[in-house]
This record gives sequence, C-alpha cells and structure tokens, in this order.
Amino acid sequence: MRAIQKLGTGKAQLTDKVPIPSYGPNDLLLKPLYSGICTTDLHVLYHGMGREEFPLTMGHEVSAIVVGIGNNVDTYVGSDRKIKVGDRVTVEPLFPCEKCDPCLQGKMNLCSNMSHLGIFDEGAYADYVRVPSHRTHRLPDGVSDLAGTFIEPLSCAINFIDKSQMKPGNFVVILGGGSIGQLALQVALASGGKVILSEPVAKKRELALKLGAHAVIDPINDNLIERVKDLTDNKGADIIIECVGVPATVSQMLKIVKRGGRCVLAGAPVKPVEMDFLPLWYGEVELVAAHATAWQFPRAMTLIELGLVDVEAALEQIVPFTEAVRALEEAYKSNEIGKMVIKHN
Ligand SMILES: [Zn+2]
Ligand SMILES: [Zn+2]
Repeated sequence: MRAIQKLGTGKAQLTDKVPIPSYGPNDLLLKPLYSGICTTDLHVLYHGMGREEFPLTMGHEVSAIVVGIGNNVDTYVGSDRKIKVGDRVTVEPLFPCEKCDPCLQGKMNLCSNMSHLGIFDEGAYADYVRVPSHRTHRLPDGVSDLAGTFIEPLSCAINFIDKSQMKPGNFVVILGGGSIGQLALQVALASGGKVILSEPVAKKRELALKLGAHAVIDPINDNLIERVKDLTDNKGADIIIECVGVPATVSQMLKIVKRGGRCVLAGAPVKPVEMDFLPLWYGEVELVAAHATAWQFPRAMTLIELGLVDVEAALEQIVPFTEAVRALEEAYKSNEIGKMVIKHN
C-alpha cells in the first residue's frame, strides 16, 4: 500500500511498498478518506517530535471507512451500536495506556505512557491504518467525510475553551489566527464570548472577522496592549487563549489579561520563554495549559451538526495524496498558508 513516511528530520517520502497493517482482536482496520496536515505533523517532521525509529507513517487527523473488525470488537464504546464494515469514523489519535495515574483519573491526554497515531504509532497518511477500536467514533450523517478530518483539531479547540472556564459574555482574546485559532474563535463565539483575535497575517484577520470576531488586531503594526485596553474599558480581557506557542505570544498573555482573569497556554511552547510573572502575582491570574483533547470528540461533532462551527472556513487546499510531501514542505515554509487536507483517493 501507499504511505507518507518520515525518514528523518525534514525528510519525508511517498512509497507504495508498505504492507497492509495486520490488526489485533481489539482493533479496527480503516481506509482513510481525508487526512489533515496540522502543526503537530510539522513538529514531527521538522522538530524531532515523536518516535525516533524510522520510517514512521505520519498523520493523525483522519476520516475513514471501517474495512476490518477485530474478533473481540462488537459495539462502539459507550453505545450499543454495532460496528459495521463500511461505517464512517474518525479517530481519537492519542492512544492512552489506561493504567497510569492520569489515565485512571480519566485524563487520557496526560497519559505518561501514551502512544499516538502518526507520532509514535503508524499513522493515517496511508491507504490503510490500524487503530484500537475504542478510540474511534462513528461520524453522524450531519458530518461530511471532509469535516470528519477536523473533529480532532476542533476537539482540541473545545478543550482550550473548557480549560479557560469562560462564561457567556466574557471578553476573550485569541492569540494566533491559524486554523486552530480560527476553530477556538468559533467555539468561543458559540459559547457566548466577545472575541478579539490577534494575528499578523491580513487574510487570517479577515477570516476571523467573517466568522464573527468582535475585533481583530495586527500585533506587528498595532499596539496589542493598548488595543485590548481600549476594547475592554481599560480592564484587560477575562480570558486569553494562546494558540501559537512562540515566546512573543506566550509572554503577551499576562500583559493583556485582566486581574483575576485566566490564561490558557494552548500552543506547544517548543522553545523556553522568558516572562515577567509580576502581573500574574499581583492580579492572581490563573495560568493553565491545554494539551490535545480528552472526551471532547462527541461535543465537536454536535457543534458541527448544529451548524455552530464551520470547520472548513480555514481550509485552503485539498491536496491529492501523491502531493502530500510537497504540501508538508509548503505548510512548514509558509506562515500565510491556511489549513491543508490530503484527499486519499
Ligand atoms: Zn492535529
Ligand atoms: Zn496512561
């Protein structure tokens, strides 16, 4: 079968010489339809995230058809619905050990022995992929094959808002208008927030306005701190959601949050960040992190079905499978480019 494999840092290839995966009694064999390219995939390919033995088949945001069912698998977890060949599904790509302390507390996203589709385990950029059956969700009729690939990033965005504990009517600033920032924006709007998005790329600011942002800020040419003050009656924002993970945006959080407000670190801070913590202390600001997703998938599908979130809004290109390697390179090189999704056939 075909697969897009990481061979080493910055090196990916398309091959057609990978055997179709075997699957165990508790697994499903899936045939992917669409796969997303996200920043995490770029961290895997270019920044050494994940497994260090290669080749590694990449990809973790996927919609797929069930083509094989393990002998012990009967129904979808948490339901009495039988799993059938031909069902459309998406996959929670984090595979928890279910034995460690965070797992036993239900915090699967914090598992200390986790595996992960396309990061530690063979991923979805392939003609077939094996997954543990209990990490799959059947796609409802109201969620298209294409939208199915956005359930994972949308679930992450819901986790950001969950961690923020925002309330209807709160003033929310989202730092970063990439595809995940645009999803966080829509979830915050759907939850009753008054939302400002800060983003240097003009077309991403325009998209945010189209999606209903109350205001947008260009952090390069505008004074972010002054603009937030203006927009919030000098108080600062109730909630900050940081969706980039670079030192410049991470350190901005405490400068624009109000006293008693809450900051969510949602972008992966892959480099050390120097910060002035005095405002955190004076203002009893709560600083929390949101890592991946746990238990948000069903709500993500409901938001799509209700039409409260347009997951395809930030979609820029649907890329044929044969051009996936080029698309990964392009996504890495350009900060302007929106979301790219691979079409498998
Ligand atoms: Zn992702
Ligand atoms: Zn665990």
